[in-house]
Amino acid sequence: MDSYDVIIIGSGAGGGTLARHLAPSGKRILLLERGDWLPREPQNWSAAEVFIENRYVSPDIWYDADGKPFQPQVHYCVGGATKLYGAALYRFRKEDFGELRHHGGLSPAWPIPYEQMEPYYTKAEQLYQVHGARGEDPTEPPASAPYPFPAVSHEPRIQALSDAFAAAGLHPFHAPCGVMLSEDNMPYSTCVRCSTCDGFPCLVHAKSDAEVLGVRPALEHANVTLLTNTTAVALSTNSAGTAVTEVVVERDGTRESHSADVVVVSCGAANTAKLLLSSASEKHPGGLANGSDQLGRNYMFHNSQAVLAISKDPNPTVFQKTLGVNDYYFASDEWEFPMGNIQMVGKSVAEMYRGEKPLMTKLAPTFTLEEVATHAIDFWLSTEDLPVAENRVTVDGSGKLTLRYKSTNDTARDRLFAQLRSLLGHLGMHEHHLIPRWAYLENKIPVAGVAHQAGTARFGSDPASSVLNGDCRAHELDNLYVVDTSFFPSISAVNPALTAMANALRVGDHLLARLG
Ligand SMILES: Cc1cc2nc3c(=O)[nH]c(=O)nc-3n(C[C@H](O)[C@H](O)[C@H](O)COP(=O)(O)OP(=O)(O)OC[C@H]3O[C@@H](n4cnc5c(N)ncnc54)[C@H](O)[C@@H]3O)c2cc1C
Ligand code: SF4
Repeated sequence: MDSYDVIIIGSGAGGGTLARHLAPSGKRILLLERGDWLPREPQNWSAAEVFIENRYVSPDIWYDADGKPFQPQVHYCVGGATKLYGAALYRFRKEDFGELRHHGGLSPAWPIPYEQMEPYYTKAEQLYQVHGARGEDPTEPPASAPYPFPAVSHEPRIQALSDAFAAAGLHPFHAPCGVMLSEDNMPYSTCVRCSTCDGFPCLVHAKSDAEVLGVRPALEHANVTLLTNTTAVALSTNSAGTAVTEVVVERDGTRESHSADVVVVSCGAANTAKLLLSSASEKHPGGLANGSDQLGRNYMFHNSQAVLAISKDPNPTVFQKTLGVNDYYFASDEWEFPMGNIQMVGKSVAEMYRGEKPLMTKLAPTFTLEEVATHAIDFWLSTEDLPVAENRVTVDGSGKLTLRYKSTNDTARDRLFAQLRSLLGHLGMHEHHLIPRWAYLENKIPVAGVAHQAGTARFGSDPASSVLNGDCRAHELDNLYVVDTSFFPSISAVNPALTAMANALRVGDHLLARLG
């Protein structure tokens, strides 16, 4: 059995970032990843391959509360979900770290204040080369440094949309984007500003993902080893059950074991819960680190809506994800409760509407699908969903994963939708025509849209109600940590990845001190 200082399981936003942070220490680090390198191939940028054929989606089958099988939108590869993500890299708001009252209930406080995460948000923005503009978003939390790169500019139709939002009394802002774009020096820019970014892998490695900016730089250090196509299936402990002694993996159809002083799990919220639940033992009968019975519970994934509006003018935008609106993020003049965040999603093209034809033609009966695409403006609305103990991941003896989820805070979600719809006339759109999109969200099987999954191993100061302590170490084990989005006690209404990255850097500093 090989032995290391640190084993990190999962190479996505949490694990990939941690690997890079620990790499210069010289400690022996083993990074385990169940997927392979995502192939660089022309299909990376094919809407039909990516959205219709689900080329990069795992063949996993999970089960819903009624026992119905579904294919979750998960991606197993080096870099994890960040290979496909939209790279909208938002900080959670300062208030998200405290208790917030929503129409649907309470969003609980985190065990650490925003100020403790702030320096790591700044580091994460630098590491992931975030482009943005401070001072435009009225809900923006305090920051100790400017964005490392200037905001990505709006294309003309989005600039017009931003102006129209402002004329309606709102405060549109340039969305924070993790793309390696040098607009003032395009001949040398790594990013070519294409239309196939959000939801696609980047063929030219210009997206700030965890493979390009986490794993690859980590592997430049000889003390870091990556094993791909290697799935962790169980963690074993010492006889007292107080420390992980062995990581059992399946690789090339065989089982092997690795050990380390410190083991960090970062498999994504559902798979981290699965791994720990599958590691039940005499000392941990309900699953490893599950004395609180909270492991797998409080699953969240945002109460999201991908919607499409029809612009009166054509919308020739190529890179659409440059605009955000947070005027309804907290209680406002419009409503006494938070509604959520409005941002853009990647520009839709006609190919993506296959299977959605009836809705598209209802939207604009005289239009062909190409004409719908020419006039479409695509929004992403995020409302916070709240942690509920019954929304949970469970695993049976055969490894079958069941995801039970009932939506929460639905009135806030509906209010946000109605709010945007009420503005359409002011935004140069056909009024009342705001319809849900399937391709981005798998609206047909809502539970399958697990892109923003979080919350199954929340951190907290009370071992009776949380799985991890403030350092993201399991309350019950001395050397077991979790750094993916599982640790979130609440999910906020902005995108989760930057918070996973910042937290991985925070936990990384703790581990560097621990390891000497
Ligand atoms: C299409 C899409 C668009 C998105 N857009 C945005 C966005 O614009 N902004 C944003 O902030 N977020 C976005 N997200 C969400 C974001 O990508 C995730 O929140 C983030 O990647 C979560 O990080 P993680 O470390 O928790 O998990 P992941 O990044 O998913 O990493 C988990 C890793 O663990 C590996 N793994 C799983 N099980 C095992 C095992 N048993 N053994 C070994 N390895 C294992 C997986 O293969 C994977 O590589 C998007 C996601 C998707 C899918
Ligand atoms: S917009 Fe830039 S980062 Fe995104 S896929 Fe295209 S080249 Fe890559």
